[in-house]
Amino acid sequence: MKAIESGTLTGRGLHLSFGSNHVLRGIDLHVERGTTASVIGPSGSGKSTLLRVLNRLIEPDQGDILLDGRSVLKDNPDELRRRIGMVFQQFNLFPHKTVLENVTLALRKLRGMSADEARRKGLAQLDLVGLKHKADARPGNLSGGQQQRVAIARALAMDPEVMFFDEATSALDPELVKGVLALMADLASAGMTMVVVTHEMGFSRNVSDTVTFMDAGVVVESGPPAAIFDDPRTDRLRSFLSDVL
Ligand code: ADP
Ligand code: MG
Repeated sequence: MKAIESGTLTGRGLHLSFGSNHVLRGIDLHVERGTTASVIGPSGSGKSTLLRVLNRLIEPDQGDILLDGRSVLKDNPDELRRRIGMVFQQFNLFPHKTVLENVTLALRKLRGMSADEARRKGLAQLDLVGLKHKADARPGNLSGGQQQRVAIARALAMDPEVMFFDEATSALDPELVKGVLALMADLASAGMTMVVVTHEMGFSRNVSDTVTFMDAGVVVESGPPAAIFDDPRTDRLRSFLSDVL
């Protein structure tokens, strides 16, 4: 996979409430280009909301978002979403379209590529995730792991500067998790800038450059994997780790 190495992403003092529920309470997150940041923490701590705020699917109530050091909040939000690829727990593939059509749809509709050009790019991207031979299949005939690799190919086809993964392996049968994590690790080592919300502590420890532990809408601890996993400073992190490890 080609090295991308752009897209230093910074969230500063981000706040977000849903009604009276103050979900993000001043989040700082800095992801240096070409590195992988994992975000861990209990369910309901605001991890998914943070990703959605960082790509402006939801506008923050307060705080700033910078890409390569420049605030993006005054730009059209579509601009940021174009620069950030997103992969969800549920793959959200169109069941009645082929695998290749799923990958090329946005290339045609949003990028205005010709059918031929989109097909070439789509097939190349499917090749990278090892699924070129499934180009004409329907998503329903693929395993969950293969469907998630198609969803990753679809996001990568748009040439994002940053990739977000929100519990990308949580819906997969256990035997399918490894293949998707291996693909994500390949992407990380190819120099993609990534923010990975995950329950996979092995991935967090071994693949990510920094780990951010969130609880109840705040960053409780953040640092290199060794500091987070081997030398937790707070009771909250110690207790979380003893629950998940
Ligand atoms: P996590 O991903 O860490 O499990 P979430 O970001 O999904 O946490 O949720 C954090 C909090 O925000 C929860 O209390 C959840 O109920 C609330 N929340 C998330 N999305 C919405 C929404 N669209 N509308 C209202 N409340 C929401
Ligand atoms: Mg979530």
